[in-house]
Amino acid sequence: MKTLLLFVALSLAHNTSDTVYICSGAKGKKYHLRSDCRGLSRCTHQVVKMKLADAAKEGRTLCGFEK
Ligand SMILES: [Zn+2]
Repeated sequence: MKTLLLFVALSLAHNTSDTVYICSGAKGKKYHLRSDCRGLSRCTHQVVKMKLADAAKEGRTLCGFEK
């Protein structure tokens, strides 16, 4: 049972930490953890899914609504 719980916890951590959403073409240097974030709802460009590591490489930081 412990092993199963650990697996679930790791899966959740992976899903929430590895993939982020950005607004392409925006001047803002932010990334978002959820595609339905308030910050992204104001995006007039395309919402793009990318790896957190890639977003960080572009100098993006976590959006203020999600801190
Ligand atoms: Zn956000």
